[in-house]
Amino acid sequence: MNAPVTLQRLGADAARFVAKEKKLYIDGTWVPAMEGGTIDVIDPATGKAFDRVPEGKAADIDRAVAAARKAFDDGPWANMTPADRGKLVWKLGDLVERHADELAELEALDNGKPVTDARNGDVAFSYELLRYMAGWSTKICGQTIPLSAGAPFHAYTLREPVGVCGQIVPWNFSFMMAVWKVAPALAAGCTIVLKPAEQTPLTALRLAELVEEAGFPAGVFNVVTGYGETAGAALAAHPDVDKVAFTGSTEVGKKILDAAKGNLKKVSLELGGKSPMIVFADADPAVAIPAIAYGIFYNMGQTCTAGTRLYVHKDIADTILTGLKAFAESMSIGVGLDPKTQIGPLVSQEQFDRVSAYVKAGLADGAKLYCGGNRAGTEGYFLEPTILTETTSDMSVVKEEIFGPVLVVATFDDDDIDSVVKEANNSIYGLAGSVFTRDVSRAHKVAKKLKAGTVGVNTHHVIDPALPFGGFNQSGWGREQGYEAILLYTEVKSVGIAL
Ligand code: NAD
Repeated sequence: MNAPVTLQRLGADAARFVAKEKKLYIDGTWVPAMEGGTIDVIDPATGKAFDRVPEGKAADIDRAVAAARKAFDDGPWANMTPADRGKLVWKLGDLVERHADELAELEALDNGKPVTDARNGDVAFSYELLRYMAGWSTKICGQTIPLSAGAPFHAYTLREPVGVCGQIVPWNFSFMMAVWKVAPALAAGCTIVLKPAEQTPLTALRLAELVEEAGFPAGVFNVVTGYGETAGAALAAHPDVDKVAFTGSTEVGKKILDAAKGNLKKVSLELGGKSPMIVFADADPAVAIPAIAYGIFYNMGQTCTAGTRLYVHKDIADTILTGLKAFAESMSIGVGLDPKTQIGPLVSQEQFDRVSAYVKAGLADGAKLYCGGNRAGTEGYFLEPTILTETTSDMSVVKEEIFGPVLVVATFDDDDIDSVVKEANNSIYGLAGSVFTRDVSRAHKVAKKLKAGTVGVNTHHVIDPALPFGGFNQSGWGREQGYEAILLYTEVKSVGIAL
């Protein structure tokens, strides 16, 4: 396989990992896919393959689920004290931090994202989350319940791990999305079969190496690389899986629900978004402009919470739009592995074509191109940060998730919050939203009225290991992060003792 030139930018550790033959991690051992197939791993900066991973299928999922089942039911993991479990999760966090530069480089190469964002965002968040969740291991407990109708019982609840978890994650933040699921599941005492996205499988396999190094018992954590329609579908439908946790598109989320119904396994879903950002006339442009730019262009807009719809008051629209254009045009476009890069390539040819088709459709529907819209460079999947103005609510660019660096803008002229909030809430999604104003009262009112799992005031992306994250409407079911994530990975049992 001819190595693309971007590989030369890798540090020694990441280069060593890329050079290794990749295998599935099942029951504490590294094995090839049973049918022997492989999937090419493509560098989005060049469009060239630089690695390959096993193409796991249903039979590999069966093996991995059997290992996870055994580890959950019989293994040393089941009998480990919460403190020892927590120490292992903390140790995994330490190992992730120790290898943070390497993990960031692998993510930047595999996904195309800026390595600086990967290091300070994806990877740093992941080790902090592992430590946060390690702390929960020893604090998961039930309650003593005073019985209301006077039954002669001493009654209490136990909070127990839900069991074997199938975890299916997307390509946009592949390592971090995996850790969002793995960290609470391990802290709660579950066992895991992880299926990373076929476009970005590398960091999940590196995570498995770190799990092994941390000393988790065999079968607690398993990774099967493969396609969604085969390996993913088999995992979601598997009768011996107790819970499936999925992050990805709303369309596939609905397929996960269908697949899960056979054994009525528990389901949590983190799905798509089309998040609004509302800017009132009294907003501070110096705060709003970089926050909006970061809200839409971070990770090239391939962020589920991306602020994709901008509603800006007409009195401040020129100032905000002029500032956003200058910001967008100043962003440094380049290969993800260059530390100066702010805009890397989109993840794949398919994604590039999809986003470009949306821009075309928006223009055909009457939107105006305010900046960007062109391919950048001669190879790879680079697209300029793009702003479309004069958009209306019936356009596909306003209704549908584009998942690229494309901001759609509409103005409003009413100082009252109701009509603009109604427009902002006019979406099948409800993942995030933000409001920019100096009026505290208005900020609170809008935060309460927005139908979204997370709301930012004078900022857009709001995430923290302690803060519940998830969607209203068709953006999903359940909340990750914080104690809410522990609830996703535990079941409650009531016990009554006759007195
Ligand atoms: P996707 O739905 O195409 O794929 C996600 C994962 O599901 C991949 O691992 C894929 O292989 C697998 N998959 C595909 N078909 C499957 C099937 N039939 N059965 C089981 N698994 C299947 O999504 P994507 O394109 O990888 O990611 C982008 C989407 O993810 C966007 O819609 C984005 O908003 C969403 N996302 C949501 C969040 C959140 O927290 N809400 C976070 C990140 C991404």
